Amino acid sequence: DRLGVALVGLGYYSTDLIAPALQLTKNCYLAGIVTGTPSKAETWAKKYNIPEKNVYNYQNFDKIADNPDIDVVYVILPPSMHREYVIRAAKAGKHVWVEKPMAMTEKECQDMINACKQNKRSLAVGYRLQHEPNTQEYIKFLRDGKIGKIKMVSCSAGYNDNRTTHWKQKKEMGGGVMYDMGVYVLQGARLATGEEPISVTAQQYTTRPEIYKNGLDETTMAQLVFPSGARAAVQTSFGINMNFLHVTGEKGFLKMEPYSAYNGQTGEASGGVKIKHPYDVPRQQAMQMDDDADAIMNNKPLIAPGEEGLRDIRIVEAIYRAAKSGQSVKLT
Ligand code: NAD
Repeated sequence: DRLGVALVGLGYYSTDLIAPALQLTKNCYLAGIVTGTPSKAETWAKKYNIPEKNVYNYQNFDKIADNPDIDVVYVILPPSMHREYVIRAAKAGKHVWVEKPMAMTEKECQDMINACKQNKRSLAVGYRLQHEPNTQEYIKFLRDGKIGKIKMVSCSAGYNDNRTTHWKQKKEMGGGVMYDMGVYVLQGARLATGEEPISVTAQQYTTRPEIYKNGLDETTMAQLVFPSGARAAVQTSFGINMNFLHVTGEKGFLKMEPYSAYNGQTGEASGGVKIKHPYDVPRQQAMQMDDDADAIMNNKPLIAPGEEGLRDIRIVEAIYRAAKSGQSVKLT
């Protein structure tokens, strides 16, 4: 059996990655859409053979509660809208998937988790990397102690965004690079150490103040301290192309590059270890949705539940506070 998925927000990620991935999935399929643009509704319905009764707009969205074709609502909107649509989906009795960054604040994340719990629905964050074999292999390699105790992590993820008026450049919509590629470098630091940071320091800057206005971060650098004493330096940018994870342990190293791409992840580590499991785009997103649908259908734990999204947003908030104050911020 397969779960019916409705996508909310038909922008770049839905159009180019998630809808094509839903043509490859075995445990779920594209059953419905929610869009504010009637012309998109028409194009998508035709292209993906979606019946009119499974097409919603933002006004009649809550009526999805009465639609047995839809099991899961996948929220792929700008981050400032995630909280509202996740809660509305949960209240409509649907399981919910939400894109990263989960939301703007830890409080919003907690509200979303609570709403899903109260309605007995599951909540997964679209952390596609946690579902892909290269990432799973490097995590296992590190957890198995292959390079000993982790001492230092360096993780960078950025790209040169030439857009000038996108929501990623508007604070009120969830803009700022720390909310965007920033969550990937936090994932790199957390997955590599297997720990949660206890304090952070951070610096932010922009080279294009006419685009990244009022101090909105185009580039963020942060330093994380972990309970074991391990440290991480992470960098993320809308102006610099970079993508790697480098982990130094007492007995060796691990390096992944690219680290957070849609495919092509390649790793090497001490002892002549090579990590490379190739696959085509958008297989990664298909693996993610198949895992999450399987978890729902067979009552298994989710790989990246809402709590995992919250852990990163908590650190994101601390990093903004640290950058603003110039002081170390404790996470307790
Ligand atoms: P996008 O701007 O291309 O799409 C956003 C969609 O939301 C558009 O269709 C837009 O019409 C719609 N929308 C509805 N109300 C809106 C409003 N008030 N203002 C602006 N847009 C509104 O963005 P995207 O790149 O598709 O990103 C959407 C989400 O997916 C974000 O959370 C983003 O972080 C995430 N994303 C994740 C990945 C990944 O690799 N996991 C990659 C890209 C984007």
